[in-house]
Amino acid sequence: MIDTAIRPPAHTIEAAETITLLETDEQTGLTEAEATARNVHNGLNVLPTGRATSALGRFFRQFNDPLVYVLLVSAGVTLSLGQFVDSSVIFAVVLLNAVVGLLQESRAEHALAALAGMVATGVRVVRDGVTVWIRAEKLAVGDLVHLRAGDKVAADYLLLSAHELQIDESALTGEAAPVTKTPGALPRATALADRRNIAHAGTVVTRGEGAAVVVAIGAGTELGLINQLMTATGVPTTPLTRKLSGFSRRLSVGIVALAVVLFVIGLLRGYRAGEMFTAAVTMAVGAIPEGLPAAVSIVLAIGVVRMARRGAIVRRLPSVETLGGTTVICTDKTGTLTTNRMTVTTVVAGGRTHEWAGDAPLPPALRECLLTGVLCNEAQPAGGTDAAVGDPTETALLIAAREAGLDIGAERSARPRVDVLPFESGRNLMATVHRTADGRLTGYLKGAPETVLALCHDQLREDGTAEPPATSAQRETAETFARRGLRVLAFATFTPARDDAFPGEASPEGLTLVGFQAMHDPPRPAAVASVAACRRAGIAVKMITGDHGETARAIARTFALADGEPKVLTGAEIAVTPDDALAGVDVFARVSPEQKLRLVTLLQECGDVVAMTGDGVNDAPALRKADIGIAMGRSGTEVAKEAADMVLANDDFATIEAAVEEGRAVFDNIRKFMAWTLPTNIAEGLVILVAIVLGAQLPMLPVQVLWINMTTAVFLGLSLAFEPKETGIMARRPRPPGQALMTTDLLRRISLVSVILVAGSFAVFTWQLRAGASVTGARSVTITVFVFAQIAYLFSCRSLDRFRPTGWNPWVLGGVAVMIALQASILYVPLMNELFHTAPLTVGGWLLVLGLAVTTFLVAEVDKFLWRPGRRHRADRPEPLVPAATR
Ligand code: ATP
Repeated sequence: MIDTAIRPPAHTIEAAETITLLETDEQTGLTEAEATARNVHNGLNVLPTGRATSALGRFFRQFNDPLVYVLLVSAGVTLSLGQFVDSSVIFAVVLLNAVVGLLQESRAEHALAALAGMVATGVRVVRDGVTVWIRAEKLAVGDLVHLRAGDKVAADYLLLSAHELQIDESALTGEAAPVTKTPGALPRATALADRRNIAHAGTVVTRGEGAAVVVAIGAGTELGLINQLMTATGVPTTPLTRKLSGFSRRLSVGIVALAVVLFVIGLLRGYRAGEMFTAAVTMAVGAIPEGLPAAVSIVLAIGVVRMARRGAIVRRLPSVETLGGTTVICTDKTGTLTTNRMTVTTVVAGGRTHEWAGDAPLPPALRECLLTGVLCNEAQPAGGTDAAVGDPTETALLIAAREAGLDIGAERSARPRVDVLPFESGRNLMATVHRTADGRLTGYLKGAPETVLALCHDQLREDGTAEPPATSAQRETAETFARRGLRVLAFATFTPARDDAFPGEASPEGLTLVGFQAMHDPPRPAAVASVAACRRAGIAVKMITGDHGETARAIARTFALADGEPKVLTGAEIAVTPDDALAGVDVFARVSPEQKLRLVTLLQECGDVVAMTGDGVNDAPALRKADIGIAMGRSGTEVAKEAADMVLANDDFATIEAAVEEGRAVFDNIRKFMAWTLPTNIAEGLVILVAIVLGAQLPMLPVQVLWINMTTAVFLGLSLAFEPKETGIMARRPRPPGQALMTTDLLRRISLVSVILVAGSFAVFTWQLRAGASVTGARSVTITVFVFAQIAYLFSCRSLDRFRPTGWNPWVLGGVAVMIALQASILYVPLMNELFHTAPLTVGGWLLVLGLAVTTFLVAEVDKFLWRPGRRHRADRPEPLVPAATR
């Protein structure tokens, strides 16, 4: 049986010999059955990863936190003091924290692992003689693969053939410049970086194409040997989660210091040491917002899942946060705004325009034009509903020729292809060389009209004879179609001197123009609405396309990218336009990938948060540079997907808009959680602190604070993570780039509610005592006030600036129900009364509880009303909408 890697070293063997050694076939590849058998025997083509930590190990990892140490020590001390209830409640807090931490961790990991699966690398292999796409992990040694620019090399391949094949090996060798690859055995001592006949796993094809055979997979590849062990990645973090963990850590240290001071003050005031210790610990536990980092991770994970449901696959977690702040989207045209379903509508040949209806018999020039489209073409005719498979531009040409009566198979086999110059964005043309029946060579070429016309020295008349070209008239013809939003290709023929001589830089031959074909690509209906939605949301949409300026302008008009006439610049103009004049342009046409990079940089310098789409190899630098690089899931190359932060499963612009919407919701929900949790924590800490400093009786016992802290954070606070997004979320302006989570508005609301909770608890407690209640009774009322005020405030936090939150959140309702049941149990179950030093509430007590809950809610709502958007213009409020075009 074949092993995971070939022996002797693959680079020393001739291609033909490898084929025999690997028991495969140069034409038909492995059989499906054989490949599966090899997969079973050798394992899948994956790199070994570090052993995943066991569930128990992960559980214990949750205790590795300074806060938890403090808690555990205090639990120990209270236990030794005989305060069993206190110590068990502290233990319960620690335990619950660990469980929530574990759940949140695995939830986030699952979400991300599922996403990783969605963007798994695909490989083009030949199995049973048919080219198929398979997932890279299914690759077996001996598989025959096809390489094209943009592909990721998924295992170690030995080249069988190569055409202009260049590979970027920087990931493996550190060498920045792409390496040209050619087949042919090399001496044994050849260094890794010089093995020109091998394409190594982990590298990417930047140019050209080739065929190869897999010689090593998974751990057997050079990449596998280098990273013998990749360590388990653990929980992914983002700048926001890191910032928040840092924030809560610093806060914790401050609070613990304060607790120490409190302890000393308490002793001086004559409290007993044991009692004071518990009080100080309680103050700390109550005040530290332990739930914050967990809640943020949960909100992010939920955001990732919601985005995936709408077709946006997030590859890097931080982009979930960034997306919501997007101010400019730079989008491709073909396939993203339009459907990329091309249909030839018009053919111009021999100076005559044929509105497409299938003329017959065909005039010689028209026939030649259609024939060029058939021969200089990578698409294949197909049976069934698909008339052809391949690039939509090329399938459209095949279908047009077939409708005109050309027999594609017969035409192609009458002139076998001997060489090809593949199409490449930037070069904007493709050429092939064919041998005709009489043994002569003929070249066929198609491409962007400007590029092709510049190479033509004559043109075909309708009768098939040649005449000098009327270049400007021809250019005008092409423009007329472009202005209608059609994609125009020019077609030409040439006579090559050798079988690998192509026109262009090196070749002296001129071309004969044979005509144009114009094709229609309908706009995506959902994308039209999404562009409008983005513009309403204050997000500028700019089109960046490889297509003709006039075609792009017409499409921009259809999409209403700008308020008036869209401003269009072409690649050549961009090159000579100063930076400050570029920012106001709506459409960039005939753009080269380097220009994309310049545009991203420029927009970022203007303070924009830029989302940029891309699909080709050359788009990778711009995708990396953009705040949100977006790759196309269907048409994008592996390289683009790898460089991107997000992949669109359906290539549709509408998905970008959906992702921005979800990104905004994520940011909203994090702020909602902060708005709710911080007053709770502040108040819990302050109540104890103030009582001790004033030497007053504690309105709540430590064990009660711990109980409230534990139950409300889990059952009330976390439910906000599931808040649906607000209606009108896309009617606001993007949040200013770099705006902190904690705005002055949020700070004011938090302070207000904290004050009410602290003042309310003291007031209620004193009132009850004055009215003759027992201390236990008064404390029971106080803690119930706390819980119900938090419940009431939770409903207010469902929206931070609207009075009516959007839709339902069953989690909030369920959480509130559980919380009420728990509170009832602590008040009415005799055993709980004993454990927590509580007593049933009187009717008067309940009235107080309800009164304060309603007050808390109303204060938060009045604050919303007074500072509602639009009433006062403030820096951290959504500004009034400015049309994107005037920005
Ligand atoms: P966008 O960036 O909006 O997606 P695009 O992807 O269509 O635009 P390219 O694929 O770079 O842009 O194409 C640029 C130009 O090259 C086209 O306008 C067309 O004139 C020409 N072209 C496109 N496909 C081919 C092809 N298969 N063969 C020859 N020329 C082509």
